[in-house]
Amino acid sequence: MVRDLVGTPSVSSTQSQFDQSNNDVIHLLANWLEPLGFHIEIIPIKGKPGKSNLIARFGKGSEGLVLSGHSDTVPFDEHLWQSDPFSMSEQDDKWHGLGSCDMKSFFAIAIEAAIPLLQESFKRPLIIMATADEESSMSGAKQLIRKNVADASFAIIGEPTDLKPITGHKGIMMLNLRIEGTSGHSSDPALGNNAIEGMHRAITELMTYRDELGTTHQDLRFDVSVPTMNFGCIHGGDNPNRICDHAELAFDLRNLPSMDMSDFSGALEDRVARVIEDQGFTCRLEPLFAPVPAFDNEDSVLAKQISALTGSRPGSVAFGTEAPFLMDLDLDTVVIGPGSINQAHQPNEYLPLAQIDPAIDLLRNLIGSHCT
Ligand SMILES: [Zn+2]
Repeated sequence: MVRDLVGTPSVSSTQSQFDQSNNDVIHLLANWLEPLGFHIEIIPIKGKPGKSNLIARFGKGSEGLVLSGHSDTVPFDEHLWQSDPFSMSEQDDKWHGLGSCDMKSFFAIAIEAAIPLLQESFKRPLIIMATADEESSMSGAKQLIRKNVADASFAIIGEPTDLKPITGHKGIMMLNLRIEGTSGHSSDPALGNNAIEGMHRAITELMTYRDELGTTHQDLRFDVSVPTMNFGCIHGGDNPNRICDHAELAFDLRNLPSMDMSDFSGALEDRVARVIEDQGFTCRLEPLFAPVPAFDNEDSVLAKQISALTGSRPGSVAFGTEAPFLMDLDLDTVVIGPGSINQAHQPNEYLPLAQIDPAIDLLRNLIGSHCT
């Protein structure tokens, strides 16, 4: 199953030249699950032709368990791979291939875990869910509604965590700040209004704001315990002898679960505007895509159960997941899966074989205790 999943391309990307349909992966999963007795729902993503979510359900009742993963992968640098990214290869007790770790293998492991239990009587439903576009817009998870999983109360997201339960991560916002000035001949500064100088003031203000956030918000569950803001790229101007008429800065902000992010970009735009308006500049601050909210499920009942089974205390990670969207569906959500995030999004991505049997055992145990 892992070989077939890795061999079925489903790259998702915000860059349209790399973006691919995930339907072949969805149908592959459906074709395995339907003969096992799962009821299959394939839900096309609105406004995203060629993309769908899969909801495969076994058993009836309420308070069921969802095993969820994303069906897409990131794009890849073919020249840096030592093997074909779409052809799974085994080397040094590892399975190499695009999506082997992040996170196509999880579906195979979930199915393998379920198979011997399907003969038993199910008191609560098991739902295997595969989403679209986690690596780009998260459109798949965002389209889910409570009705899709009304018969479930718990969810595992099998992202690679080295089989440690995760109950928290920061939110991520990516923003673009554009400052407008006026161009002119550099010999007389009065002939224009230099947007790079406006940007200098704006960055100073953003750094002040960042320092304030670091003193007002701290969460020791995270390795980096304060919110972060990274200035990722900056562009402006074309020639040393022209006054620069506009400049742009793209940056990210990683917020803690305790921070209220409603109207964050509006408030920050006002703050930047106040320090540059008297110099005649205008600015516009816009999100580059819809933010990924922070995830906080510290009181999770499911995490306590998983801790008892694995001997690992619930922790937090630095990467974002679909967990906040599943929490919005009233699912007690824990992120746990085989493989390490250090191998995800990398050439020669791999899953260590040593984690496969423990992952199957863990999921089988959870399916058994929740559903049968
Ligand atoms: Zn992932």
